[in-house]
Amino acid sequence: MQPLRGTKDILPNEVKYWQKIYEIASQILNQNSYTEIRTPILEHTELFLRSIGDFTDIVNKEMYSFSDRGNRKITLRPEGTACIARAFISNKLYLKSKINRLWYLGPMFRYERPQRGRQRQFHQLGIECIGSSMPIADIEVIRIAIKILKKLTLQKWKLEINSIGNIEERVKYTNSLKLYLDKYENDLDEDSKKRFKDNPLRILDSKNTKTQEILNSAPKLMEYLEVESLKHFEEVCNSLNKLKIKYQINDKLIRGLDYYNYTAFEIKTQSNNEQNTICGGGRYDELIRQLGGPYTPSVGWAIGLERLIMITTDKLKIHEGKKIIYIASSNVNNSDIIWEIINTIDKYKLSFELDISNHSLNKQLKTANQIGSKICFIIGNNEIVNKYITIKWLETSTQQQIPICKINNYIKYIKLSLKT
Ligand code: ATP
Ligand code: MG
Repeated sequence: MQPLRGTKDILPNEVKYWQKIYEIASQILNQNSYTEIRTPILEHTELFLRSIGDFTDIVNKEMYSFSDRGNRKITLRPEGTACIARAFISNKLYLKSKINRLWYLGPMFRYERPQRGRQRQFHQLGIECIGSSMPIADIEVIRIAIKILKKLTLQKWKLEINSIGNIEERVKYTNSLKLYLDKYENDLDEDSKKRFKDNPLRILDSKNTKTQEILNSAPKLMEYLEVESLKHFEEVCNSLNKLKIKYQINDKLIRGLDYYNYTAFEIKTQSNNEQNTICGGGRYDELIRQLGGPYTPSVGWAIGLERLIMITTDKLKIHEGKKIIYIASSNVNNSDIIWEIINTIDKYKLSFELDISNHSLNKQLKTANQIGSKICFIIGNNEIVNKYITIKWLETSTQQQIPICKINNYIKYIKLSLKT
């Protein structure tokens, strides 16, 4: 049996990276006053229809939606922000404090063509700074993204930012863009032709070279922004300069979700791979009101963890504690002694592995060496009859026989000797 297309098992030798990412991210985020939130994977389909936008790729063709046994329309969450906005409203988090800084890590689901860096179940780490319209909030979240990515050893990255203005500005711009593209409609790539009708702004995002050439002389979104939008953008850029965070303005950067306004940004790795966007984010001042909550301007981002892990695993230093004690015995069924010893090992919090293979003692000793344990406790028939155990230090091959009644003291001695 194979797993579902586009899904993957995360095996024990990879889980250590996921744990490391969780550890680093939670440390940085807690330090920056962001607290973790965990929302359900299942949500009403309507949540995404009302937030992400009808003509976006996600809503159009990527959602995992189904009717449950009670005929409710349900979707496996394709992204985090809409879910957090929903949780913010349903739990009335706005009553507790004006600003809510939240973060999440979990699986997301999109029905896409699986390829390198693109799965149907993938994971995002994301943060949301909820309740401030100030450019400083945009800077706060961008700075944290970079801090986390650097700490996770991402080396070659670039930050691209843009302002996509407010809705009125975008409507005006979209009209002029359509007017301009009208004469080139037949020259556009197939995707862009479709977008021309439904979501013309997304044409800016096209990777097709011919379409990009046509766009070079198209009207620019920035020219349609009015004072307030421009001022916000300028302040974000100025602060990035002051913080010496390098960025490029990409006037074609349009995020694939409809709820964004003002700042949009992406962090990309410098690979030619199409899946080189690691982090995407932006401001969403209207989303919470649109979903029935109070007006709550907000900004956030999400990092795709599979893409990040693909390029950082060899640099992430993982401290792997070695197994200390290996317990080899000729008769695991005679277990009273074994459990007595294990209880004592537990008391001193030493790591151990009990051999349950039923192999010969010799073979068990070999395994103890192979997995790199420090000490092997050998409990053979002689040992059981005479109430002692043989202890072999594998690095030096020194061997000792310790009476069972002294084993507590001996394990205490092991614990102390490991500390020095
Ligand atoms: P892309 O253009 O690559 O499809 P996107 O704009 O759809 O990305 P966002 O919705 O902004 O992506 O999600 C943020 C991040 O989540 C992406 O930058 C990427 O790292 C990751 N991501 C999105 N979709 C997938 C997927 N299907 N598989 C793995 N990672 C993904
Ligand atoms: Mg996508």
